Amino acid sequence: MRVIKRFVVTPSLPVKLQPLLQIAHNIWWTWNPEAIQLLRRVDTELWDRLSHNPVAVLGNLSTERIDELLHDTAFLAHLERVREELDRYMKFTTWFDQEHGNVKDRPIGYFSLEFGLHECLPLYSGGLGILAGDHLKSASDLGLPLVGVGLAYQHGYFRQYLNHDGWQQEEYRENDFYNLPMTQEFDAQGQPVMAEVEYPGRRVQARVWRIQVGRVPLFLLDTNLPQNQPADREITSRLYGGDDDMRIRQEILLGIGGVRLLETLGLRPTVCHLNEGHSAFLGLERIRRLMKVEGLSYRVAFEMVRASNAFTTHTPVAAGNDYFAPEKVAYYLEPLARDLGLDMEGLLALGRQDPGNKAEPFCMTALAIRLAQSCNGVSALHGHTSRQMWQRIWPEVPVEEVPITHITNGIHVQSWNCSEIARLYERYLGPRWYEEPTNQTVWERVSRIPDSELWRAHERMRERLVGFVRKRLQAQLQRRGANRAQIMTAEEVLDPEALTIGFARRFATYKRANLILRDPQRLARILNNPERPVQIIFAGKAHPKDHPGKELIRQIIHMSQQSEFHRGIVFIENYDIEVARYLVQGVDIWLNNPRRPLEASGTSGMKVPVNGGINLSILDGWWCEGYKGDNGWAIGAGEEYEDYAYQDEVESLALYDLLEADIVPIFYERGNDGIPREWVRVMKNSMRRVIANFNTNRMVEEYVKRFYIPGVEGAQRLAADGFAGA
Ligand SMILES: *Cc1c(COP(=O)(O)O)cnc(C)c1O
Repeated sequence: MRVIKRFVVTPSLPVKLQPLLQIAHNIWWTWNPEAIQLLRRVDTELWDRLSHNPVAVLGNLSTERIDELLHDTAFLAHLERVREELDRYMKFTTWFDQEHGNVKDRPIGYFSLEFGLHECLPLYSGGLGILAGDHLKSASDLGLPLVGVGLAYQHGYFRQYLNHDGWQQEEYRENDFYNLPMTQEFDAQGQPVMAEVEYPGRRVQARVWRIQVGRVPLFLLDTNLPQNQPADREITSRLYGGDDDMRIRQEILLGIGGVRLLETLGLRPTVCHLNEGHSAFLGLERIRRLMKVEGLSYRVAFEMVRASNAFTTHTPVAAGNDYFAPEKVAYYLEPLARDLGLDMEGLLALGRQDPGNKAEPFCMTALAIRLAQSCNGVSALHGHTSRQMWQRIWPEVPVEEVPITHITNGIHVQSWNCSEIARLYERYLGPRWYEEPTNQTVWERVSRIPDSELWRAHERMRERLVGFVRKRLQAQLQRRGANRAQIMTAEEVLDPEALTIGFARRFATYKRANLILRDPQRLARILNNPERPVQIIFAGKAHPKDHPGKELIRQIIHMSQQSEFHRGIVFIENYDIEVARYLVQGVDIWLNNPRRPLEASGTSGMKVPVNGGINLSILDGWWCEGYKGDNGWAIGAGEEYEDYAYQDEVESLALYDLLEADIVPIFYERGNDGIPREWVRVMKNSMRRVIANFNTNRMVEEYVKRFYIPGVEGAQRLAADGFAGA
């Protein structure tokens, strides 16, 4: 059983420094370079040691340091500037004010099992969470009345270590919520805000944590309380950590508990957005409430809720969707079915593609689709794949008319772009790039950036990446018990001037991390050409139960230990937001080679062009829309294969050919000034053609126009005249 930390560390700072606490507790700072500089400056050594967590830094400051800061007028002026900037940010008239000010009082609930906001908040696993985090940040920038709902995991997702043989080890660390940029939520009477959910034979209580994401609050439920049974305290222990039974308990808490929480806070959302099917039970809870509070019939309440729910599916891999055995659903949801006036078969039918098929397990995606008027995949190709996958829900409808559309994912530009390049944008694009990242005319101005300045800035980022990797490698070797001589060799891996390829993603087999390793001799010739060296940096976690995925990591480690690959292939442990940031900001080439069409969108590739990097990818997910011929490279032409071995052969050959014939030569073709003109041209095309479109401001605006506003209006229409509309 876990121990609850009872002590509350509220750093006591002198009045003059107290704005630091305000800044630290609004993670707006994560996308404001001046604010990051400020928080770093408080104590650089602590900042690095404490995972860039400013709340922990402030809690650990020595009295001497506090005294120094109090007398550092430059620092105090910096603090004042950032405080003013935060005030301004919280007040300016936003896009949403201007476009949809009339529905500003209608909150949108955004539900997700994970949120990736910053490396100091380990409440995410990968792409789904990062997308949710970037969604909140853009919602804040655009001024949406959106609130996030999720779970506060005591242990988050695992940290990855490799043993000597390259086999992945998992470690769970305890999150100390009191020392993170989050605060417990209390009501006006000073009582803790609580949400309560019934499970068979018991009620489970959850307290509530708030992370302030600019203007947008994110509320997280936490069942680790003494009044709950030990097993229920574990509900919010780990992200994706347990078995089916744990998963359904988590999803009940997120969906049902989440709706109740918003109700308790007086934030009755008009529209709820389900980021993946995990939160689909929220639809049932909303129906129950409407029946109870408004006295509606099940059918009418169902129509009301359906009209105002939006659902985003994220996975074209069948196993990636949540399925529960019917008995399990019956065990947990029998009372809910009764409240809805359904028998158990009636409830189970909502989670089946074919409602009459009693052999079908209960699928959260099917439930979400049934309960949401607006459904989407996350790229054009994934929309198409999703319509095929879920067509059986509408057996009479032709595939292309299945009501699942697509809204392509994006990234929050300011969170992923490095300050060196940001300075160039500031100078040559003007300040509007920051406020209006979707404005194509602004991005056309990258042609104004002098090639030499762009190239030098990019080279500095590559150097920084190489330095970071070497340091990480040393630490990794040290932990694995390597001797001094071995640790010293980490200083010699990689070359800060060599063409650098990054490959970092979840190690699922369909992503084929080992595709580029398929012909070791040919690869060795490419990497070890003395005039034109190439190097590859790998990172990524395998799911703890994914042994073939772990096998891929081991294969990379073994290869990197061979003498011909020792300098040119490295694997960094524990891929997280920080590692991702170094990589996407420093690589020349971002490699992506999934088996089409299994990559729903992918977002890591979008983070690269904002920093001057270039994509080399299979035509899958977002790259089908992003690739324009002159802004990067496509491996193949969007073929799909039945014979996987043959596919790997064909596509690895295509990859080697591209590297040898195209990519490596133009990278090393330098003018008299040492600048690779043709390469810089592709860099600029990559910026010009990707950034304006593949960012979360564009994405969130699309959700507003196509899903949220129609949801608000649909619900209003149905509710008109005492629900006569429904
Ligand atoms: C961006 C990001 C992802 C998602 O990228 P994919 O292209 O979907 O792999 C996953 N993990 C981290 C840490 C990221 O920053």
